[in-house]
Amino acid sequence: MKQNKISDKEVYDYLANHEVKGSVQRIAVMRYLLEHHTHPTVDEIFTELHEDIPTLSKTTVYNTLKLLVEQGAAMMLTIDDKNAHYDAVKESHAHFFCYNCGKIIDIYNPEGIGDYEHKLPDGYKVQGIQLYYTGLCPKCASKTKN
Ligand SMILES: [Zn+2]
Ligand SMILES: [Zn+2]
Repeated sequence: MKQNKISDKEVYDYLANHEVKGSVQRIAVMRYLLEHHTHPTVDEIFTELHEDIPTLSKTTVYNTLKLLVEQGAAMMLTIDDKNAHYDAVKESHAHFFCYNCGKIIDIYNPEGIGDYEHKLPDGYKVQGIQLYYTGLCPKCASKTKN
């Protein structure tokens, strides 16, 4: 595996900011999400990390992700009804999901997403936003043209 770009301390601090105690497994999972903006599934994360941490189980990956989501350190994307995908939450952003190949890309809007908040009746407290578009990526769109 290639050298990691994010230091242990950075990952540890990121977790601490979300009140998550850093363990070897949690740091590994969080680091993976921070370094790969590919919206991996539990299986993908497990397959990648298992090489380096043979003691890691799929259940641990699943439970770690669940904790990270609960603490607001990661989010679970439910765009794909076959698999849950995970993402680190650094900046809020929207997603585009290609229903043909399953690719998910980030869409950043400097003006922020979820400007529907002020349309909510009084008393509602927003704690999470999921905004996504679905359709075809350029590759799949060109294939289906003819
Ligand atoms: Zn596609
Ligand atoms: Zn994303």
